[in-house]
Amino acid sequence: MPVGTMEASQSAGLSPSGAVLKTMHDAAARLQMNQEVVELLSTPWREMHAQLPVRMDDRKLRIFEGYRVQHNGARGPYKGGVRFHPKADIDEVRALAMLMTYKCALLDLPFGGAKGGVMCDPTRMSQTELNRLTRTYTQHIGQVLGVARDIPAPDMGTNAQTMAWMMDAYGQRYGYTPGIVTGKPVELGGSFGRNQATGRGVATCLRELARHEGAKPQDLRIAVQGYGNVGSWTCRIAHEIGFRVVAVSDVKGGIMNAEGIDIAQLDHWFAVAGSVAGFEDATPITNEQLLETECDYLVPAALGEVITGENAGQVRARYVVEAANHPVTPEGDAILAERGIQVLPDILVNAGGVTVSYFEWTQNIQQFRWPLERVNSELDIRMVGVFSDVLARAGRDGTRPREAALDIALERVAKAIELRGFV
Ligand code: GLU
Repeated sequence: MPVGTMEASQSAGLSPSGAVLKTMHDAAARLQMNQEVVELLSTPWREMHAQLPVRMDDRKLRIFEGYRVQHNGARGPYKGGVRFHPKADIDEVRALAMLMTYKCALLDLPFGGAKGGVMCDPTRMSQTELNRLTRTYTQHIGQVLGVARDIPAPDMGTNAQTMAWMMDAYGQRYGYTPGIVTGKPVELGGSFGRNQATGRGVATCLRELARHEGAKPQDLRIAVQGYGNVGSWTCRIAHEIGFRVVAVSDVKGGIMNAEGIDIAQLDHWFAVAGSVAGFEDATPITNEQLLETECDYLVPAALGEVITGENAGQVRARYVVEAANHPVTPEGDAILAERGIQVLPDILVNAGGVTVSYFEWTQNIQQFRWPLERVNSELDIRMVGVFSDVLARAGRDGTRPREAALDIALERVAKAIELRGFV
């Protein structure tokens, strides 16, 4: 089944937000946390549902459903991307908002967590339709946004262009405000390095993992599911570091070459074919086969819930490195743990994006642009520091990295809630 149509694993009856909540509740029990704090974090602070009427190119009116979920703002303004995807329903957006609270806390960014979504298929819409939809969405949620209130960014199905439209639509109503979104085009006040940042952060985690294992990247094979913004930049930078990328896939299919795929060549192919599928110098594989590829580090970098109770038994990697948000269900996670396969969690691995969003926001507030070298080196310092904090905490407590990362994050959020006097 292609990634784009892969169904969420409903086998255990847990919705995406139910699964994130379960992980949080487990952490709260481990930390013997104040029950009132747990209760406060179990539901979002505010959820906005909006009806979005858009005149399509064929002159017909279509009504889309859009959301902005603000989960917790104890540590600062709400922060998180906007997803345009057919499966971006309220429960999924809620789950992703919760993850943002913990991701920002783990990286010690002065933000709370939020997420937005519009249920639509951007691959079947024209640029003019997307422009209209984005403006309508921004007008509807504009009242809950603000540079010190809630700052959206790109996520799946949105990009720098979407952020430019959002910034413009917001500016028309409230005046020029570049810091209202991050992930903007550089020409409009975006940060150098933001577009690559999530993939760069993932590659930094891969590099640190290799170092932690005392291995050379040249001797390690990685398989990456997804060749969108995150997957493709992960492949490019990991390849540059020296890793052997042995398998890659996207919505249309995948490819494998045990000797390693030449990513520069693959990019040439992708520019023409619009997919990694069909690349000459490799064997075709499906997305299921990609997840079962024999490799050292498996990097799911596409949709959520792709490693489940059904297929976790077939994973043949030593580590799963979560570049996507929530790619492993709790049942999948339990099976990987039983099989001794380690997992580096999403809130650590894909945090490079929101970290550079933070740099972009500070640059906008100061009206001062950083050179690319500064962005990349400050990103590196933070990712390396947090990577080692998570592994040290796991070592100290005898927990797994997912648990250690959430424990660090949850403690910080709880502390902020208490200090503010919410409980
Ligand atoms: N959408 C990205 C994420 O899931 C980035 C969020 C941001 O930059 O605010 O982390």
